[in-house]
Amino acid sequence: MKRFIDVGFNCPCNLKCPYCLADNIHAAVNFRYEPSHIVNGLSLERLGGSCLFQITGAGETLLSTEVVPVVHGLLRQGHYVNITTNGTVSKRIEELMSCETVLLEHLCFTFSLHYTELMRLNLLNDFIENVKVVKKKGCSFCIVLCLADEYFPYMDEIKHLCQNEFGALPQVDIVRYPLDLQGRQGNVDMVAGEYNAIAKSFDSPFYCFIRKIYKQKRREFCYAGDWSFVLGIDTGLMRKCVESGVSHNIFSDISMPIPFAPMGYECPSAYCNCGVNFLTLGVIPRMKTPNFVEVRDREHAGWYTPPMKQVLSSKLKDNNSEYGLLKKLDYYISANITTLRSSKLFKQPQTNITVEALDKRSERGQFTEVKITKIVIDNVAYAPCSLLRDGWYCDGSSIRWNNYTPNIEKTAVLEIPSGRKRELYFSKNKWMGMAIVNLKNKDFLYDGYADADNDIFVLHL
Ligand code: SF4
Ligand code: SF4
Repeated sequence: MKRFIDVGFNCPCNLKCPYCLADNIHAAVNFRYEPSHIVNGLSLERLGGSCLFQITGAGETLLSTEVVPVVHGLLRQGHYVNITTNGTVSKRIEELMSCETVLLEHLCFTFSLHYTELMRLNLLNDFIENVKVVKKKGCSFCIVLCLADEYFPYMDEIKHLCQNEFGALPQVDIVRYPLDLQGRQGNVDMVAGEYNAIAKSFDSPFYCFIRKIYKQKRREFCYAGDWSFVLGIDTGLMRKCVESGVSHNIFSDISMPIPFAPMGYECPSAYCNCGVNFLTLGVIPRMKTPNFVEVRDREHAGWYTPPMKQVLSSKLKDNNSEYGLLKKLDYYISANITTLRSSKLFKQPQTNITVEALDKRSERGQFTEVKITKIVIDNVAYAPCSLLRDGWYCDGSSIRWNNYTPNIEKTAVLEIPSGRKRELYFSKNKWMGMAIVNLKNKDFLYDGYADADNDIFVLHL
């Protein structure tokens, strides 16, 4: 396997799980590019070989009709695909099963078991049947239970159901409540006795691995961005990793090569919260981990077929070369050059600017967050975090404000190098709000709303 591609897109959902984190599940599916264009843009030649695509919608993945031609196209190219689904959209699963039998060996499913919603909507039988259908057709699968407090009264019946219908207990995933997603304190304390004891009773390697890497900042050289990347398949926008900025639209000109470049030592996340994919596949080759299948399969129940098992047991370094010391150093220096420039070593005349978040959304906006991703002075880029003197908080190299993070000031004070041409790069999307930027007693009003999910706005001062 040459690369791992973590694919997402906006779509609605047919369930209403109480612990749902997807804040965009009411969005309509809106693919900017035709499925054939997407598939051609993800050819073996362009990606360097067969890759594993992990496809997960913001809501329910299989509510999108576009998924079927895209998945079939990727399989026909010679890729492998894993679809995460709540297992309730029988029609779409039927459509997915309608391709050549031999291709189905390269397709697997992660069925998220949202037990109370399945019971409430009388969809449990559909879920069970859909798992059985994909197994019968030769696909691999695993069942994952999002362990929320709401399920505690049903533990025995969930275990009984999975043993009876799928031959084994489900794997267990941790429900992450919104605060935790921001890299700070979560509502679920994994060390807390009852939660941990219940999770452990499932004897789930998936849970054990997530728990092992939970809140562990990664400081090793990470090949995410080169051996793996994150792709908005509805927009074509590529990120090196889940929390890094958008780097490129890979579908705007599919005759051009994709600019792969690793995160290196600059992991932007407080911890690797998708490590159950990225780390098990080996984006950090120096880190010893179980492989992708080992954390998902229930071997005695035969959830993964032998051919799929063989592919998914490999590590990315088996088909990629690790960098030498000099190349790693090169990435380190270029990633840190902006911080160095703003350090005392390179002291130069400074100017203060303030950015006041108004906690106000524009007419169509959904939220009031403000985020600055880059500052450019006379064509030299700086990491906003390295220029922040007061207020807001750093998120990787960016700075942000939102009204749900406790104890942060609305006003950010930035000390920027003097220069004639100043540019502030703001994130623009449906959730961004309004702010006032002040430079030398002059105010500039900024409105962060955009229809797109990953737009940017450049304020010239
Ligand atoms: S199935 Fe997933 S996306 Fe849908 S409501 Fe439940 S957690 Fe949210
Ligand atoms: S350590 Fe994890 S979160 Fe950080 S860059 Fe690598 S894959 Fe991404």
